[in-house]
Amino acid sequence: MKKMIFILVAVTIAACGTSNRINDLSNNTSTTSKKNRAKLPSSNATQIAIDVQYLSSDELMGRDTGSEGIEMAAKYLKERFESIGIQPYGDSYMQPFKNDKASGNNVVAVLNGSDKELMKETIVIGAHYDHIGIIQAVAGDSIANGANDNATGTASVMAIAEMFKKLDFNRRKVVFALFSAEEKGLVGSRELAKQMKASGENVVAMINLEMTGTPMVGKDYITYLTGYDTSNMGEIFNKENENRVVTAKLEAAAQMNLFVRSDNYAFYEVFKVPSQTLSTFDFTNFDEYHKVGDEISGVNAQHMSEVVDAVFPGIFFMVNEEGLKMNPVTNE
Ligand SMILES: [Zn+2]
Repeated sequence: MKKMIFILVAVTIAACGTSNRINDLSNNTSTTSKKNRAKLPSSNATQIAIDVQYLSSDELMGRDTGSEGIEMAAKYLKERFESIGIQPYGDSYMQPFKNDKASGNNVVAVLNGSDKELMKETIVIGAHYDHIGIIQAVAGDSIANGANDNATGTASVMAIAEMFKKLDFNRRKVVFALFSAEEKGLVGSRELAKQMKASGENVVAMINLEMTGTPMVGKDYITYLTGYDTSNMGEIFNKENENRVVTAKLEAAAQMNLFVRSDNYAFYEVFKVPSQTLSTFDFTNFDEYHKVGDEISGVNAQHMSEVVDAVFPGIFFMVNEEGLKMNPVTNE
């Protein structure tokens, strides 16, 4: 493993995300008006970089499910939720699961909804934090650090959690779910989705983040959305952000049916609601997928921060809009 000195200078510039609060929103039924959208907070690129740095450090040995390294990652994520001030989901941030394929802990936190009706509906924002551990050595390096896959999505969920906490405004319940054992076949997310279903949770949409560490090249949109045609989620993201095209259908992703290949699909299976993944890995802009070279030096925290800021208005809408209408999911 080559030694890396991660320089925070580039991202420090972007650390100007202020802690704007929307204290006046709770008395305002028009929650998603342009006036209020303008007050949405920005993400903190430095914190995103710090989270990716720790999660992808050699110390965690590639975060393989069942390893000591992934338990260190889980402890770190639990402490991050605690420092942000978001409550555990259920009795504990650690939501254990065990089946014949894998055992581990999902790390899950919740912000209860403020509206007496909408609080009965739940939006799940998720990402997997596990990776593939130790693999065949290349030039003496055998640690698959999993910086882009998927410390990036994990750090992005944490950033979104921090933004909602600062806002102190979510009419629906928001569950922030960091999954283990994705790499074993969506095991952690399936177990959590089933546990949530069994406990009567009314999930109305699931938004998943995967591999947002490198910008796409030559596209006029900043992310793509898997299962694009399965719902109007993409339209919501684009309508709610007036500054840029947030997301689109990527043909290559559709051909590979990425819709079924990440944790969003577990929630689709269990709840049959819009459940989709945002990503910027387009198969041409990152060569280290599942290789020992997936290290922090290959991901761009400034880009990740821009992704979070770009998608936040759409998530805010789904979390707060009174008459949220999401098209029925069609079978792909
Ligand atoms: Zn992944």
